[in-house]
Amino acid sequence: MKLQKIGLIGGTGMGDMLGWGNAIVTKKTARTPYGVVDYSVFPHTSPPIVMVSRHENSGEYLLPHKLNWQAYMYVLGNKLENVDLILTTSAVGTPYKEVGGFEQGDLIVPSDIIDYVQDSYTFARKGFSDSLAFHRPSTDLLCPHLRQALDNPEDCNPPHLILANSIKGPRFETPAEMKVRLADGVDVVGMTTAFPEAVLAGELGIPYAVLCGVTNIAPAEHNGMEVTEAMKVMLPKMKVCILQAIDWLVENEHPDDCPCRKGREESVFC
Ligand SMILES: [Zn+2]
Repeated sequence: MKLQKIGLIGGTGMGDMLGWGNAIVTKKTARTPYGVVDYSVFPHTSPPIVMVSRHENSGEYLLPHKLNWQAYMYVLGNKLENVDLILTTSAVGTPYKEVGGFEQGDLIVPSDIIDYVQDSYTFARKGFSDSLAFHRPSTDLLCPHLRQALDNPEDCNPPHLILANSIKGPRFETPAEMKVRLADGVDVVGMTTAFPEAVLAGELGIPYAVLCGVTNIAPAEHNGMEVTEAMKVMLPKMKVCILQAIDWLVENEHPDDCPCRKGREESVFC
């Protein structure tokens, strides 16, 4: 099916992405069963883009552990904006200081996630739950087709990289925690941002992928300012990457039989 509308979620330091060139933007506010969300629609881009600033959509800056995932993901879902797919960005750390590997400034497109936080991320709530609809697989939560678009469209076998839903925040990992992550094969660590969204995108039946920007070596020995500064440097190339991915996705439709659809064909709100 032709791509009709794209959802974008801007992460830490990506607020400038909301200035999407000279495109006309419509500011909207939605009241959802999960809270109120401010967001932007670019109706004349091709295809139209719906953009949510992950940390700044509620009138105040929300730290990672306070994010209103359900509210802004509901906005992107089939009851409101009905986007066809969701691309997002996230600031991450990497444990590779001593073993060689990723460096600050690298862009990473993870293919799987280890969840160390073990919270529940779901649209299920009192009066809205179903014994079958909410038990969904966790395979290919990060869509391979969108990963290919974000990583390298010429390469249909992007590397297998693991993101950790590592820390609820707002703090960075301890040295011992990072040793565990490294031993577990984790490539990059992040707070509770992309993983909750990926799970909820699965409940919405929307393909989802995340472009991670490596902002620091973990365990971090600095505060959040360094992450913000590192993200500012990366912002232009992240934006180019997202735009190229969108162009590729317009030409290369998301396949109906994509592995990310298995068990997640329909939104729980259908
Ligand atoms: Zn897919």
